[in-house]
Amino acid sequence: MFVISAPSGAGKTTVCHRVLESIPDLAYSISHTTRPPRYGEKDGVDYFFVSEDEFLRMRESGDFLEWALVHNNYYGTAKRQISDCLGSGKDILLDIDVQGARQVRDQLSEAILIFILPPSWEVLEERLRKRQSDDEEALKLRMSNARSEVRAVREYDYVIINDDLDEAVRNFKAIVQAERCRRSRVIPSLNWLSISV
Ligand code: 5GP
Repeated sequence: MFVISAPSGAGKTTVCHRVLESIPDLAYSISHTTRPPRYGEKDGVDYFFVSEDEFLRMRESGDFLEWALVHNNYYGTAKRQISDCLGSGKDILLDIDVQGARQVRDQLSEAILIFILPPSWEVLEERLRKRQSDDEEALKLRMSNARSEVRAVREYDYVIINDDLDEAVRNFKAIVQAERCRRSRVIPSLNWLSISV
């Protein structure tokens, strides 16, 4: 399981799309959210867009592996998403915030946590402004959340600076490939090699 976090505007979504296109057997975990869809977003593709009542009902039923309140909206990863992907033998990529990443790590210590950083605060703000999907107040909230989120970087296993998109994607792919080659993951799958890890 690969967990990726970044302040919004760090370019995480673009990096993730490129990585998912080029790495076989890596599936994307589609989160549930109470946030309304942005232009072009599709239900069941980008997110499962649900009402707050529905989200809270799922939360009470224990349907989420993790959940968090981010920018005044609820977001959560349904356990079902994880079991479906891992059951089909695929690795899974979770694009979630730092609160969610902590909950995942507490439950699944083998999860790989990756943090994407922008090259500077100025670049981050410029990227958020270019998006034009938020008003000035929402932008300020995202910038102040970004400053506190970045402090969590120490809890992550890997850091990718997204200055150049191609390089960020290459680094991400290298992490996935290296983790797939870990002795503790490879040896147990080799039936012919009768040695313990
Ligand atoms: P956005 O609204 O820009 O798509 O996402 C806002 C933030 O919510 C991002 O940092 C994103 O990673 C995070 N997020 C998306 N899905 C989930 C989820 O299922 N759980 C948690 N904890 N955070 C999520």
